[in-house]
Amino acid sequence: MIELPEALVIARQMSQELKGKRIAYGNRGNAAHKFAFSSGSPKEYEEIFKGRRMGEVEGHGSAILASIEPDYVLVFGGGGERILYHQEERALPKKHHLLLHFEDGAYLTVTVQGWGNTLLLPQAEVGVHPHVQKDRITPLDDAFTWGYFHRLFGSVDEDSATSIKYFVISEPGVWGIGNGCLQDILFRAKIHPRRRVVDVAEDERRALYDAIKGTLTQMVALGGRESECDLYGNRGGYVRILDGKTTGKPCPECGTPIEKIQYLGGACYLCPSCQT
Ligand SMILES: [Zn+2]
Repeated sequence: MIELPEALVIARQMSQELKGKRIAYGNRGNAAHKFAFSSGSPKEYEEIFKGRRMGEVEGHGSAILASIEPDYVLVFGGGGERILYHQEERALPKKHHLLLHFEDGAYLTVTVQGWGNTLLLPQAEVGVHPHVQKDRITPLDDAFTWGYFHRLFGSVDEDSATSIKYFVISEPGVWGIGNGCLQDILFRAKIHPRRRVVDVAEDERRALYDAIKGTLTQMVALGGRESECDLYGNRGGYVRILDGKTTGKPCPECGTPIEKIQYLGGACYLCPSCQT
């Protein structure tokens, strides 16, 4: 799943590789997929893409926003989108849910695993779209200060049973962190994913803030997580502390076996001694 680190890494690569290229033709791919979310008919996509030029590509939270000049934006990210650049036709994946063929012979394909976005939106609609959330501050923005993060806790009522997992990835949420990045963040902050937000002490809130900034910065610097691929199909260099492979293995801090639990629609990995 693409979360903030991959969105930033792939957006940067797309900008470098594709900006200025003219689209000979583009379409909604060669395979139907109910959960590859699009924003128009195949014919509309083809008509919009034809002859346009690629502009800047930016990452915003979990979203990748690629400008299709002058007035459309392609939106990917947040789901299981595999976004790949190809120099030759024979390298194209058999099934894909979006394809751009550039005048210089290169290709971009998007193949959705599970669910994902291949939206093509008029520029004017991007800001308000729920998959983009352009008005939200993302955790590596300068505006994501300790003061800002601390204020998010004010939105939780004193008697609320909301857990810290829900607080970070859903409501109010930190845009760009999903269940994938959350595991190592909570491990570093030493907080159990089920802990009630109202029971998280002031110093732990600060530790969580530092863990968010530190973990995401490191993930981006290393080209994303090892479980995900970049624009060229290369895996990221960030090896997760906690994931399916480390379940049952000793915690790197204390040696207690790492546990896996199912919680809020996804697997959580944790050290039952370090994370309380
Ligand atoms: Zn431990």
